[in-house]
This record gives sequence, structure tokens and C-alpha cells, in this order.
Amino acid sequence: MTQHHAAGTRRRSTSLRASFTAAPNGKNGTARTTSLVTGGAGFIGGHLVEHLLAQGHHVIAIDNLSTGNPATVERIDHPEFQFAHGSILDEPLVDELVSQVDQVFHLAAAVGVQLVIAESFESLRTNVRGTEIILESARRHGARSLIASTSEVYGKNAACPLSETTDRILGSPAVRRWSYAQAKALDETMAYLYHTDLNSPTVVARLFNVAGPRQTGRYGMVIPRFVGQALRGEPLTVFGGGQQTRSFCHVLDVVAALAALIDSPAAYGQVFNIGRPQEVSIRYLAERVITLTDSLSTIQDIPYDEAYGPGFEDTERRVPDVTRAREVIGFDPQLTLDDIIMNVVAEQREHMLALEPVSIEAVPATDRVEAEYVG
Ligand code: UDP
Repeated sequence: MTQHHAAGTRRRSTSLRASFTAAPNGKNGTARTTSLVTGGAGFIGGHLVEHLLAQGHHVIAIDNLSTGNPATVERIDHPEFQFAHGSILDEPLVDELVSQVDQVFHLAAAVGVQLVIAESFESLRTNVRGTEIILESARRHGARSLIASTSEVYGKNAACPLSETTDRILGSPAVRRWSYAQAKALDETMAYLYHTDLNSPTVVARLFNVAGPRQTGRYGMVIPRFVGQALRGEPLTVFGGGQQTRSFCHVLDVVAALAALIDSPAAYGQVFNIGRPQEVSIRYLAERVITLTDSLSTIQDIPYDEAYGPGFEDTERRVPDVTRAREVIGFDPQLTLDDIIMNVVAEQREHMLALEPVSIEAVPATDRVEAEYVG
């Protein structure tokens, strides 16, 4: 991995361009492409980088490491991988990177309901202005782009299943949660208009709840949180009654779909739901995690207001209709909810062991310090 630091978003290395002039890529007429993955140190971005490298492509990742994990990119020791530490709001940096690639996967975003509520303004700016910078740069340099969107755009619409053309039902703009849906819907519209009006190939992937190894529970994501709680023997915190439903898709199925979408000219100009249509209630999820971990944990009900602050509104039901993705890219996610849970359990167990080098019995009770694992 070549580190390309843009600390303070200004300092730039010239080694990136130099190493790429010699590298074969799609722009030079070969089958091998060079991809830019924004948010490449994030949960989905990191898995996508590894998927693209395994397919034999060159990959540059950009991430400001605000929510991304440096370990995600540090662990990728591959000669075809380069990392730029910087912000997608740094236009000159983005432009320099995009000028060298055939395609851009735009995954950098402020994500996680808790983060969006806590840092609403910054989230909005990253999700709107950041996407505009990416799309404009991709157009300027003739790169195709995939914009990651979210099932949040449907808002409170509990229709089942949700197809790409289903209406959006949002609460008041003053409810902070919906600012994320507003921003992502605007991103989708921008992507569509860049394709239709500005002749720049774009495709939008509307991601339903994605989960799997390396997802952090720090920003609210339910599966790593439940697994961490179950493994520590703590109560599983079920918010808002637990009758709300979600459909979880394994991150490995998702990144394969993203790569397939950008490879399919028939997909350009369209939105695709990407998710696994297996609807589960959050209470069922909690029970399933307890069962699969053999945990003695109980379930603790927490009202929404207590979990997220006053006036919080949740989405009751969320099930994707993935007919379009099946027809265009043969999308057929293979990994089940149990696979996701067991993969996350294995990862968190390994992490806990690494954090606990000394047997707990060997340490006097008075000296014991709880190791914190943010899952
Ligand atoms: N949730 C929960 N306990 C937690 C974290 C989340 O009950 O500790 C609920 C949350 O209120 C929502 C669902 O699980 O109804 C999925 O939450 P997540 O943040 O993972 O995704 P999203 O809300 O974006 O679908």
C-alpha cells in the first residue's frame, strides 16, 4: 500500500501520479480498470477495495478517517493499492485522484442514525457537497461513477416490499433523522441528472441494511451492538419496542453487486435496490443473537426518546424489492442473517481475545479493568 497523505487536506504527494502513469488501466485500453473508492477505510468501502483488488484491478482509496478505521486500509498489503488520507470536500485532491481512474465508487458519507443526529450539519455538508464534487470531477475526467445511496430515502413508508419507484414519506425537515434521507435523495437526483443531462455515466445503489465483519456499533448499527452486548453478557438494548423490521444483507454480497453494477452499461442512469429481502423484527434479531452466541444476556427495552433523544421517528418496516438488480446483474445474495451474525460473532470473539492477553483469573479482582470493545 502506498500512503498518500493529504493531512489538513492540502499536502499532496506526487508519487501517486508517477506510479500510475506506468500502470495499465481501462483508460489505456486494457481490460484492467483503476477505481477510486471514496470512504475506502469504511466498513463497506474496505470490503469493496479488497473485492476489486481480488479481481485484479488497481484501487485508490480516499478517506478522512473520521469514521473510517485506519486498520481497514493498513491491513491491505497489496502492490496495486494506494491510500489517500484526505477529505472528499478537498476539490483539488479529489480532482487529482479522479483524473487517474476509470471509475469512482462514491461511498464516503456520514452514516449511522446516531451520528447523523449528533452531527447533522457536518453530515449534510459531506453528503451533499461531497457528492457534487465527486460527480463533477467524474464528468470532467470521463470516469463512470457509482453513488451509494440508502433505503433511508424511503423515510417512513412502510410499504412492503419497497421498489425503486416507491414513493418517499418523510417527516418534518426539523426532525434531524430525515436530514440524511434528504441529502441522499438529492445525491440520487444529481447522479441521475449528470447521466441524462450531462452525459456522464452514473448508477445509484440504494443500500438496505448492510452488515458483516468490521462494522462498528459505535454509530448505532444494530448487529455489531447486539453481538457485542451478547458476548459481554450485557442486556441487548432493543429500541422502540422491537416490532420494527429490517432486512439485512451481508457486506460481501453487497460489494460484489456494486462491482457488477458499475460494470453494466445497462445499469447507467438507474437506481438499484441492493439488499436481502428477508424481513426480521429487531426483537427477533435480538433473540437470534442470544441463541447463536449461547449468551445469558436478557433483552432490555428502551424507548426511542431515551435512545435517540426527544421527537425521534423510526422506520417501521424495510424490505427491498430487488427485481431490477436481479434482472440487470443477476443479483442473488447468498449469505443469510445467521451467516452475518456468526461472522460478526467470530470477529468480535477474536477481538476480545486479543484485548485480553492475561487470563482474568490471574489478575487480582481489585486490579481488573474492563477492556472496552466498541463493537
Ligand atoms: N436498534 C436497537 N438497538 C440498538 C441499535 C439499534 O433496537 O442498540 C434498532 C434501531 O432503532 C432500528 C434498528 O435497530 O430500528 C436498525 O438500526 P440501525 O441503526 O442498525 O439501522 P437503521 O435504523 O438505519 O435501519
